[in-house]
Amino acid sequence: MPSRYLNVITSAHKKDSRLSPASPESFSDITNCMVCFDFDNTITPFDVLDSIIERFSINRDWMIFEKAWSNRLIGSKECLEGQLSSIHVTKKDLTAYLSTIPVDPCFIKLLALIKKIGMTPVILSDSFSFLIKTILKNNKISGVRIYSNTLRFRKDRLIPSFPYTNLLCAHCAHCKTSNLANKTHPEKKILYIGDGLSDICPAHHSDIVFAKSTLLKHFRETQRPCLSFNDFGDIYNYMREYDNESRSKRMPTAASV
Ligand SMILES: [Mg+2]
Ligand SMILES: [Zn+2]
Repeated sequence: MPSRYLNVITSAHKKDSRLSPASPESFSDITNCMVCFDFDNTITPFDVLDSIIERFSINRDWMIFEKAWSNRLIGSKECLEGQLSSIHVTKKDLTAYLSTIPVDPCFIKLLALIKKIGMTPVILSDSFSFLIKTILKNNKISGVRIYSNTLRFRKDRLIPSFPYTNLLCAHCAHCKTSNLANKTHPEKKILYIGDGLSDICPAHHSDIVFAKSTLLKHFRETQRPCLSFNDFGDIYNYMREYDNESRSKRMPTAASV
């Protein structure tokens, strides 16, 4: 077990200052790293799961769960189970809605660059694989492993399941941090890209963090190093610079020949 994850496994997300992401300067050594993308409001331009809950709920009970979750009175699993119980939508209608949802316009070229550099892209999400896979397919995105909660349909009801819960973690439905601990080699560096509350814990356990919105605010308030981004164009430019620099270091310059 990588030592940086021991605190997650033993005491569910207790922070350790040694585990802060490295400063941007350490970007020099990430060729083999795993690039972890959050999905909602990171790959998509808004929170798709929230929009589905608002759009297809038969009452406003979801707001009570949302408030309790925001105030950390309940974890994501209890919140999602409660919110999904009010949704009435058929697979056909949900699929039609999902067909309207774009992804970041730079996602395809960012993925191509990540793979060219030798990094492994994955999606870690507290949403549901049916939603993510449908949106990615509609936008012609492939070749990214997805770790998320799952969903099945029973007529117009959505039945969730949570394959990546961590019994030691009261906050998450999909405990991204313990999943990272299980999925990555101890020495593998992690680059994390996200925006929200559920990204804070896995981002604390990553080496490089690209953050926006709530995640960025948290990192700034706690004075942890991270790189801010607005969209994947920013991250693409950063990676392209890294790729150019590392290649020019590998190649002999005219002066040295
Ligand atoms: Mg998000
Ligand atoms: Zn967790």
